[in-house]
Amino acid sequence: MSDTHSFRPVLDRIAEEIAGLTERGRPADYIPALAAGDPARFGMAVAELDGTVYGVGDWRHPFSTQSVTKVFTLALALAGEGDALWAHVGREPSGDPFNSLVQLEYENGIPRNPFINAGALVVTDRLQRLTGDASGSLLDFLRAESGNPGLDFDPGVAGSEAAHGDRNAALAHFMASYGNITGPVPDLLREYFRQCSLEASCADLALATGFLARHGIRADGSRLLTRSQAKQVNAVMLTCGTYDAAGDFAYRVGLPGKSGVGGAVVAVVPGRCTLCVWSPGLDSRGNSVAGVAALDRFTTITGLSIF
Ligand code: GLU
Repeated sequence: MSDTHSFRPVLDRIAEEIAGLTERGRPADYIPALAAGDPARFGMAVAELDGTVYGVGDWRHPFSTQSVTKVFTLALALAGEGDALWAHVGREPSGDPFNSLVQLEYENGIPRNPFINAGALVVTDRLQRLTGDASGSLLDFLRAESGNPGLDFDPGVAGSEAAHGDRNAALAHFMASYGNITGPVPDLLREYFRQCSLEASCADLALATGFLARHGIRADGSRLLTRSQAKQVNAVMLTCGTYDAAGDFAYRVGLPGKSGVGGAVVAVVPGRCTLCVWSPGLDSRGNSVAGVAALDRFTTITGLSIF
């Protein structure tokens, strides 16, 4: 597809098809703020490399971004620490649920990848070491890349995460026992729960992911990641970004992607554009039913997959 302006009819067509979906999944219910999500809601945005953004449906409606933020903390930690980061976290799909403790014991407290909770906790700990303010540096970055200075955390959601955070606390303490968490665990958990609570829209997240389509270049033209590091983050998204359904996502969509239990999914067409879809109904693996269906339709209609 060569005419960039043809994204608008594509989005309209996808929204029409998604409106006819009868099975939309169920919202996450481990905290009240997410359980109230309406599976009938749907938004989708596509951002061009130059920051032009197209959207349909609820594309400007803010939602809880949850694990989508793990992409940005990984990018910031990798930019700050370079290859040394990979001594603390692996880059293989886990095949286990996102909050699993099982593999950690066999692998000496080194999580399999940065997108399961254990891995994201390690990445946040590294970023906290690098910046002294992991969630603050994440917020600054996302405000700058999205061009939305109003982006913020939701203290109510962060508080709910903390109130239901025993599993994440267990993961962090367990890894600390191997020396793979360096800061105090309560501080790390506060940073991690804040980052999960970020509120943003499809437009914000499509724009904020742009550096991954621009091979590491930020919205202002400066470089965050080397070309090779941008490839690395995209590769880890492709293989590990959609919980233990990354194989199915690659099969259906064919793009690097990252989902969150708030119902958002971001996806990258390297060298071309970025996408974000949101619909709160999830499948049994935690991915947005309408969101994945919409991305599937996008790559089928446009041919813009990486394969
Ligand atoms: N706040 C969730 C947790 O850490 C994130 C879930 C997700 O989006 O994967 O358990």
